[in-house]
Amino acid sequence: MTALSPHLRQATPVTAVRGEGVHLYGEDGRRYLDFTAGIGVTSTGHCHPRVVAAAQEQVGTLIHGQYTTVMHQPLRRLVDRLGEVLPPGLDSLFLTNSGSEAVESALRLARQATGRPNVLVCHGGFHGRTVAAAAMTTSGTRFRSGFAPLMSGVVVTPFPTAFRYGWDEERATRFALQELDYTLRTVSSPDDTAAIVVEPVLGEGGYVPATAAFLQGLRERADRHGFLLVLDEVQTGVGRTGRFWGHDHFGVTPDILVTAKGLASGFPLSGIAAPEELMRKVWPGSQGGTYGANAVACAAACATLDVVRDEKLVQNADTMGARLRQGLDAVAERTAGIGDVRGLGLMLGTEFVTADGAPDPDTAARVQRAAVDEGLLLLLCGAWNQVVRMIPALVIDGTAVDEGLAAWARAVETGTA
Ligand code: PMP
Repeated sequence: MTALSPHLRQATPVTAVRGEGVHLYGEDGRRYLDFTAGIGVTSTGHCHPRVVAAAQEQVGTLIHGQYTTVMHQPLRRLVDRLGEVLPPGLDSLFLTNSGSEAVESALRLARQATGRPNVLVCHGGFHGRTVAAAAMTTSGTRFRSGFAPLMSGVVVTPFPTAFRYGWDEERATRFALQELDYTLRTVSSPDDTAAIVVEPVLGEGGYVPATAAFLQGLRERADRHGFLLVLDEVQTGVGRTGRFWGHDHFGVTPDILVTAKGLASGFPLSGIAAPEELMRKVWPGSQGGTYGANAVACAAACATLDVVRDEKLVQNADTMGARLRQGLDAVAERTAGIGDVRGLGLMLGTEFVTADGAPDPDTAARVQRAAVDEGLLLLLCGAWNQVVRMIPALVIDGTAVDEGLAAWARAVETGTA
């Protein structure tokens, strides 16, 4: 009998038959509160009526326009709509299908534009699973092991992960920037460095926000040494953190911005944005693809951006994120096994630790399983899978937040008993 490959391990035993807003309905007849949102993808909730309508209409009009053959209207509309939300200056777009593909586009652009071979990445970062993106991923050996040799030219430098070092943010930031300077002096000279690629909030690496001083320090070094600052906003973009882009928290603008996930509410779509002058340096014909900027995905993305604007979802992520955070902090305060609660907006993680403060993936896994029994779907992250993360759709309301928190409190009690 044919079956899915055994290496695919699903985080929950649920078979979903339908999704609506922040809920998934299982084949088992149960309704689940979905705090995973397809790994931060269904930004407008499952099957938002306006996204459904836009996609349905596009399916009956033109499914596949093939953007290296013809221009199509949903793509033209999307370029205009993205122009309204992108930082000033990032006025040129290249669209692809997945986060990994977009990260690789940014890498190719950086190398062709600078003529330099190396890319700096931050320790704990996740940038995807294709081989170059996996080479840039250091959030867990499980994403790299056994694939060697990976792409060369990747140099790893610290992220200000204060909790792991047991430091405050200021000390962690100072350390990370000092190490970066040392790396530029000892491992990858500025003349060999095309770019530094970083997430505004480490995602798969454990939901750790960067600090303003750190990202500003990267910006300053990129300018000084002539390499590019690439922000991977695949998970942090489109309102997730309570600002439209994650970097809006930190007063820093990238040279290349990478987006995917929440952009099209579940249709595969990703892309990079950069100043046109920089994008001109991509050698003609060297980047493209069969499915990039699929017409249905572009129509869904336009509808997504409209919903985000009209329903004020960025503001909602901020308000609901604060409410969720308050509840998570309250549970953490009375639970010895919780070491840290952190994140921005509706991108929040709770880290489980043993009595000696070591990462505690066993408890995190027990709590995650207990939550499923309570009807709450959650995912893990962090190098040890010791962090339980919450990334509900941006349309979540106060009632659903409170329901989620009540289920969370019970799951933590069961999982830590
Ligand atoms: N970058 C970041 C920050 C991500 O979170 C992810 C996916 N978790 C990726 C890149 C890769 O995206 P995809 O799975 O669509 O290739």
